[in-house]
Amino acid sequence: MKPFVLAIDGPAGAGKSVTARAVAKHLGIRHVDSGAMYRAVAWLAVRAKTPLDDEAALLALIRRTKLEATPEGLTADGEPLEAHIRSVQAGDAASRVAVHAGVRAALVRVQRTMAAPPGIVMEGRDIGTVVFPRADLKIFLTASVEARARRRHQDAIARGETIDVAATEALIRERDRRDEERAASPLRPAPDAIPLDTTELTLEAQVDLATHWARLAQAGPGRMTAFFRFGHDFVLWFARLFLKFRVEGTDHLPRAGPLIVACNHISFWDPPLVGAVIPRNAYFVAKAELFQNRLFGAILSGYNSIPIQRGAAARRGLRGAEDILAAGGAVVIFPEGTRSKTGAFLPPKSGIARLAAQTRSPVVPARITGSRQIRRSMLRQGEVRIVFGSPMMPPTGDAGGREGERAYARRIMAEIGAL
Ligand code: C5P
Repeated sequence: MKPFVLAIDGPAGAGKSVTARAVAKHLGIRHVDSGAMYRAVAWLAVRAKTPLDDEAALLALIRRTKLEATPEGLTADGEPLEAHIRSVQAGDAASRVAVHAGVRAALVRVQRTMAAPPGIVMEGRDIGTVVFPRADLKIFLTASVEARARRRHQDAIARGETIDVAATEALIRERDRRDEERAASPLRPAPDAIPLDTTELTLEAQVDLATHWARLAQAGPGRMTAFFRFGHDFVLWFARLFLKFRVEGTDHLPRAGPLIVACNHISFWDPPLVGAVIPRNAYFVAKAELFQNRLFGAILSGYNSIPIQRGAAARRGLRGAEDILAAGGAVVIFPEGTRSKTGAFLPPKSGIARLAAQTRSPVVPARITGSRQIRRSMLRQGEVRIVFGSPMMPPTGDAGGREGERAYARRIMAEIGAL
């Protein structure tokens, strides 16, 4: 059995540890805090009076020490370290040892051995990008610097340390800079990481959202029916053979869990072409009228299409898409609601924002160009290009009501426009 891997990355103080620990508990799988290993190496080095910039000495220290992740925290040759490695200064020292590529390689090797069935939640800075680039689900936790400094400061006070908020914030900024600018595995989101901004969220809400995504991702990406797979592969080969077909950014698509792909719409070719390049089972919404013809309706249904009513009934019409997303599936939505006759973007309908908020699904923007120029004559085709962008976090809380929904839908179109 392949272990389920959830990678949680993000800067200091975004809430990775509490979130990762709680999600792992809900799922009944192991939690590993990779930052503790960098902290441990730094603390052991300071104790042994090893300079933190002496990579060879740090490597020798790692080689002669047995680091183990126990349920009570990390141990070095059996000695519990938890009590020593949590201070703000220990975090700062950790980021100094973490700049060395050799140190990173040694710790990454240990981290990779920790993924065992039924699964693991690992948190850090490079889990989704370097340690487990094929993780089933990747979450990138963020929060404003001020919010992170406030949280870290509260933790420090609770531990009895004396440090003020301004000093904590300065250390966090410095640590962010070092983590982001280092040459070896700098802190950055994996292309398919779902951003989870916790600035405005309660701890409970952020744990709940991450657990929701993880539970659904555990179910896997969904299986294609034989008919859909055939059509999917047929369209893909057709496009590769007969069109000047360029596809970019498929690495932005989360492998599993609920997903809305939001694409602009300029041609009836768009749904099959976009569907063909998404490497997982995906559904489409199509106008209910199209299903009136029995044969065509049956083909559409077989081809993962869900009928949607227009106008007042549209709310109800999205029910089919809701069900798919609630089960952790992927749905392609055209936020403009209809095909643009001119190729220029139309104002988006807010239904997509409501759908994302209700089903708590991330949205990946996609842009298609050139599909209006596909010619009957197969010669002299123009280029057809499909590009996917970075996942967007769904609206949370009350999402600002109708106006908030409209703003989110406009943001999606802006992201599409920027691709
Ligand atoms: O997450 P935590 O604050 O415990 O991490 C301490 C430091 O260890 C980070 O600032 C970072 O420099 C380093 N680290 C890393 N890669 C990881 C985890 C932590 O570089 N996967």
